[in-house]
Amino acid sequence: MQRPATRRRLMALYRRLLRHFGPQLWWPARSRFEMIVGAILTQNTAWTNVKRAIARMRAERLLTPDRIDAAPHGTLARLIRSSGYYNMKAGRLKQFTGFLSTRYGGSLTRMFQTELPRLREELLGISGIGEETADSILLYAGNRPIFVVDAYTRRVLERHGLIRAGTSYREIQWLFMDRLPADAALFNEYHALLVALGKVYCQKTPRCDVCPLRYDLPDGRVPTQLRAR
Ligand code: SF4
Repeated sequence: MQRPATRRRLMALYRRLLRHFGPQLWWPARSRFEMIVGAILTQNTAWTNVKRAIARMRAERLLTPDRIDAAPHGTLARLIRSSGYYNMKAGRLKQFTGFLSTRYGGSLTRMFQTELPRLREELLGISGIGEETADSILLYAGNRPIFVVDAYTRRVLERHGLIRAGTSYREIQWLFMDRLPADAALFNEYHALLVALGKVYCQKTPRCDVCPLRYDLPDGRVPTQLRAR
């Protein structure tokens, strides 16, 4: 596929989604640090469960890096119980705050001043932080222009013939970043819209007949072999 054609297509999909769903106003949080906490807690669970955990942390005044650092592991785990895998996630929060304190003296401002590829590598070096979480932190808390790829993104692109099954995270990310302007606001909204699309229409069994992106399907219909994935 020609690169300019893919760029036009990706932008057309974006505009169609924005018209349909409207701005998603991500990430729903009161501070950059709360965004990071949310990005870590949302792994393998629904956002409603994360909201409950964050509300409990806020009530206990635990939404700062130094307070998480100082809190006993068991206390933290109990407060975030609703987010699932709470022992593991308490450890991940502490890993992150430990990293922030050791490497950047506890300053998110200093951390986000680091060159993007280097900071991404550093975040990926923290136990339990994978590519999607690291990129969510960089984009939504750091306002850095990097595209976040999730299961919904992969599903939509596969069904529309833009990628093949097994395409790597970095290749999918590059598909967007190589063709679209390096614009954090655009990447922010695009990812949030793909999540909305995946929740409402592009579910395991796709609802193509009522979906705003139906016009873009190869031959006007989702390939049979890609159904229910
Ligand atoms: S048209 Fe179908 S395959 Fe495409 S995004 Fe919508 S539901 Fe998914």
